[in-house]
Amino acid sequence: MVSPIVTGRFAPSPTGDLHLGSLVAATASYLNVKQQQGRWLLRIDDIDTPRVVSGSQDRICRQLEAYGFEWDKLTIQSQRLAHYEAALAELAQQGVLYECDCTRKQFQQRLGKSGCYDNFCRHRQLKNCIHSSIRIKTPDIPWHYQDAIQGEQVFDWPSQSGDFIVKRADGIFAYHLVAAVDDSDEGITEVIRGADLIGSTAPQQYLQQCLKGPSPLYGHHPIIIDSQSKIKLSKASQAPALKPEDAVRNLFDVLTFLNQQPPNELKKGELTELWHWAKINWSLQKINPSLSRD
Ligand code: GLU
Repeated sequence: MVSPIVTGRFAPSPTGDLHLGSLVAATASYLNVKQQQGRWLLRIDDIDTPRVVSGSQDRICRQLEAYGFEWDKLTIQSQRLAHYEAALAELAQQGVLYECDCTRKQFQQRLGKSGCYDNFCRHRQLKNCIHSSIRIKTPDIPWHYQDAIQGEQVFDWPSQSGDFIVKRADGIFAYHLVAAVDDSDEGITEVIRGADLIGSTAPQQYLQQCLKGPSPLYGHHPIIIDSQSKIKLSKASQAPALKPEDAVRNLFDVLTFLNQQPPNELKKGELTELWHWAKINWSLQKINPSLSRD
């Protein structure tokens, strides 16, 4: 059997500009495939349409170009609705889906704020309710997988997710479903992304297994924590947008954060020189697995 071409992806949500935290995910996923002469796909995660900020998709593409990223394909999730609908129909046919009309408020009252969904509607057999989400029945036994950066992982369904939503009550396909379908359909062989998403892996692998699609290798790198607010560097923490003129400094800092130890003289050099060094010297094994760092 011919082994598939190494294929990675970066999947930003068009909810604002890219910042240093996004650059870590873009860089790690990019370098890991480039070093294996693989392909890197850009996927615009715009399925959650109410959160989309107009113009953000174009700005993200321009920012990536200014930082020297080159992608082999651009996918826009909102143009792939028929694929998600087909996956949902396949799951429905398997009898693993059910309707749920619990509001977040209701199950938080039952379980407290941190509790996961308690599978309350699993046996209620609701049919065609107006305001219901669609959930998938999760396995009875814990899920084990090997993370390329974090090592052996065990995911306990009742305490870490419960039966999760595949289609929201507002009719929008849920992130886990669309990510799992896209990764299988696009032949993604490795997903390198931030440790804030590590809890998404078991649900996405489980969906791929149900849909009999291929499943990539997953690796979760540490994420940058804002030293003042102590929260993840993100649009919500008002992380500044990546500016083209800071490309060398920011890329150098990201490589340092990922423990690649770029030589100091490259800090004042050209962007192409820094990329050249990074593609040759990249090592996933060097990344410090701690889940977050200042
Ligand atoms: N769109 C997600 C984010 O911006 C990334 C999803 C993924 O990599 O699976 O955090």
